[in-house]
Amino acid sequence: MQPVLLITGASRGIGAATARLAAERGHAVCVNYRRDETGAQALVREIEVGGGRAIAVQADVAIEADVVRLFETVDAQLGTLSGLVNNAGVLERQGRVEDIDAARLARIFATNVTGAFVCAREAVRRMSTRHGGRGGAIVNVSSIAARLGAPGEYVDYAASKGALDTLTLGLAREVAAEGIRVNAVRPGLIHTGIHADGGEPGRVERIAPSLPMGRGGTPEEVAQAILWLLSEEASYATGSFIELGGGR
Ligand code: NAD
Repeated sequence: MQPVLLITGASRGIGAATARLAAERGHAVCVNYRRDETGAQALVREIEVGGGRAIAVQADVAIEADVVRLFETVDAQLGTLSGLVNNAGVLERQGRVEDIDAARLARIFATNVTGAFVCAREAVRRMSTRHGGRGGAIVNVSSIAARLGAPGEYVDYAASKGALDTLTLGLAREVAAEGIRVNAVRPGLIHTGIHADGGEPGRVERIAPSLPMGRGGTPEEVAQAILWLLSEEASYATGSFIELGGGR
């Protein structure tokens, strides 16, 4: 039976690289997007041209009803879910704590924590052997910021990823006996559009020379780790974290 993988925020960046690699490895893929329909549809076409199976589904993971509809669409169009990658994430312009209001904190947490939580819940409802499911795997895309705290940059974003890490640990143990593994990757500085969206284009290029490897990472390098965690090769890994920080 073909594995069915849902990736949130997958129209570009780490999510898109993960979708491409997953399709190459035989997964049917749901490419979730919030606004970037053009990117998501182009990715689906690319996967189909390569002989794979994919659909693009619009949903804002911060909206619970959207998430419920997203999973129902996957059930109807792709079949039995076997994996979830909680990849959708946002950060906002760099600033100190004095510059961050509660509304910004709420926006960040709504996607990075609540969105991931509600998606994980929907995945567990489908994959848990407790509910008649066949098991599966969840990979949360955290950040090295969860460990470093991102002082002077985005302590709010770092705190949201810290919450995601704790969710990873708790869920991993809660569903370990039900056939579901829950793990996370913690990327360091990766070449994607998130930095420009956060008001800092060129951030990775600026910081790269000071990193131990002298370069930022690629979305494809993160995707490799995500696919390993999803695979049977990682059958004894749950509640674990793979850090992809180039030694940072
Ligand atoms: P990206 O901006 O290309 O990807 C994030 C995607 O999530 C975007 O397509 C965005 O539209 C989508 N998204 C945001 N909010 C959403 C919502 N509410 N519902 C649905 N989709 C939503 O950047 P990326 O770097 O590929 O980010 C992927 C993940 O990697 C994020 O969770 C990010 O926090 C994490 N991360 C990135 C880096 C990095 O340096 N690029 C480092 C550590 C962690």
